[in-house]
Amino acid sequence: MNTHSDLRIQFSALIPMTGSVMENGDLVIRDGLIHAIETRKAQPQESTVIDLSDHLLLPGFINAHCHLSLSCLKGKVPKTERFTDWVRALLKISADIPFMEKLAGIRAGAQEMLSSGVTTLADYISQAELFPEYAELPLRKILFLETLGFNANRVQYVCKEVEAILDSHASHRNAIFQFGLAPHAPYSVSPYLFKALKSLAQQRKLPFSCHVAEFPEEIRFLREGGGEMEAFLIERGVFDENWNPPETGVLQYLDSLDVLQDLVAVHLNHIESSDLELMQQHHTGAVFCPGSTQWFDRKKNLPLRKILNMGITAGLGTDSLASNESLNFLRELKIAEMLIPEISRMEWLEMATRGGAKILESTAGIIRPGAPADLIGFHLSSKPTRYEDIPFDKSRQHVDFSMIAGQQI
Ligand SMILES: [Zn+2]
Repeated sequence: MNTHSDLRIQFSALIPMTGSVMENGDLVIRDGLIHAIETRKAQPQESTVIDLSDHLLLPGFINAHCHLSLSCLKGKVPKTERFTDWVRALLKISADIPFMEKLAGIRAGAQEMLSSGVTTLADYISQAELFPEYAELPLRKILFLETLGFNANRVQYVCKEVEAILDSHASHRNAIFQFGLAPHAPYSVSPYLFKALKSLAQQRKLPFSCHVAEFPEEIRFLREGGGEMEAFLIERGVFDENWNPPETGVLQYLDSLDVLQDLVAVHLNHIESSDLELMQQHHTGAVFCPGSTQWFDRKKNLPLRKILNMGITAGLGTDSLASNESLNFLRELKIAEMLIPEISRMEWLEMATRGGAKILESTAGIIRPGAPADLIGFHLSSKPTRYEDIPFDKSRQHVDFSMIAGQQI
């Protein structure tokens, strides 16, 4: 029985990401959730009816990896031959950015995501003082506390700090604001800290994510030690003289630390076929960042076709504006299919919605009763041949409707 306070949305077509396209129906929204999907009612009893009878509806997009607080660096960090030179430039430039400029970047970046259909943001963030700004954003958010600490003697300090942040900001947590933990990467976090953070994430039931196999030097560092990566850590004063390279691939290394289970692994450009079995075994999720991959002009990117064929769940992320020109998610979809043409549009949409949600342990990303009412809509001037082509249309830079937790944005 629908009630007067429910909200009814009439749609022309709906891709629920749980089954086939539905046409000419209604969605009933109650308490921020999808209550029912019904056939069109001629005389609805709800007081609020949104007429989207000329729109295609989809679940809102899940941006599964971003660093929104780096949005102020848009166009400022030069492309460099070596990854460590890019990090050096990023650190130098970001140190001089005033706090207010950072806040403005966060707002502008969030707006760009919202207008291009993102309703859930999974973001890496290292500055707790930015949380209040994030709390104001209408997006559904999973904020991964990003941690560094290659020196083994940092473990206790970093863990205490992370726990203190989680406790002191617990009041921010609500239906659309959650925390996660993100040790930055295998080359910047000690094995001890990795294990300690994983155990903290398990204790507190938080999603766990890190950058994995992003660039070739990372692989070399783990297999042989030394090289550009070690020089960089020494230069930063954070190298651990007692560290011995595990002499394995990155995923084998993470498996040896027992941190692969349900890990949200970002990038994976340089993994081996044998790594995929480990991912499958441990339900490791993959995040592909199309715009960032293009920006860095990566010669190798993750074996996404194989990943999907093996039933490993994947999502899509924009990464930050320090390595991408835009946070427009519709642009990401277009770059994605250009970089990896053998993936179908329905598969890209699946990654952009349900896949991203699944690896982040979110109930969003699908349209079915009980799921969050996070929706996006595209105006249709005529019935398309294939509905899944609509978000990929070159002329579409923005969505025409957006709703998060039952609130129209
Ligand atoms: Zn990143």
